[in-house]
Amino acid sequence: MSRKPFIAGNWKMNMTVATGTKLITDLKPLVKEAKCDVCLCVPAILIPAMVKAAKGSKIKIGAQNVHFADHGAYTGEISADMLNDYGVKYVIIGHSERRQYFGENNDTVNQRTLTALKNGLTPIVCIGETLSERASGDTENVLTRQLEFGLHGVEDVKQIVIAYEPVWAIGTGQTATDEQAQETIKFIRKKLGKMFCVKDANRVRILYGGSMNAGNCKGLMAQPDIDGGLIGGASLKTDFATIVNFEK
Ligand code: PEP
Repeated sequence: MSRKPFIAGNWKMNMTVATGTKLITDLKPLVKEAKCDVCLCVPAILIPAMVKAAKGSKIKIGAQNVHFADHGAYTGEISADMLNDYGVKYVIIGHSERRQYFGENNDTVNQRTLTALKNGLTPIVCIGETLSERASGDTENVLTRQLEFGLHGVEDVKQIVIAYEPVWAIGTGQTATDEQAQETIKFIRKKLGKMFCVKDANRVRILYGGSMNAGNCKGLMAQPDIDGGLIGGASLKTDFATIVNFEK
């Protein structure tokens, strides 16, 4: 089953209109022959300017979250309609930093995912275990819970992208080995096969995230179940283009 590779950047709370525009302007010629889908998930306030900067290029602009309500008294939140106003296609949901610092859990992830799908957005649903969960042999249970609760009520799993991001590898420089990442992502795909059906699970793109960079991307991308990367730190520089061009 061939799945189109997907390299997505997560700028987190970095960049301004000026620095973001400069980076995208520099990236545009470097990614023009990309064979994969490319996206940069930028801070919400930068979306309009970055959409403008990326116009006419392979780079799609994504968001870092979406609220589950259509509108209302949710100070500080962003709705799906607001993202659709700017042609945003991809939205990260349930990033471990949201779970760790902003009280998000499998239930809010589920609500946000369903809202994104209802509004034609493609959720990049993040799951992953902490270091202590891995050390105590709990990885598969944690991932199972995140998938079962997070994707509850999803009708067409093919419309979702999953990002497997071991929390211990995010922003630490400590990448999962190619084998660790492959083995865990294979488990995730098998689990999706049981929750939905094997045929659909084989069409879901599953990304690896956690200190992926220009040096280690080839080995990770060579694994049969890894379909791409969610890139934090390395998406803030033109190194991102080397990852996008991993097939060269
Ligand atoms: C991320 O933010 O999803 C991430 C994987 O960050 P980093 O690449 O910096 O580890």
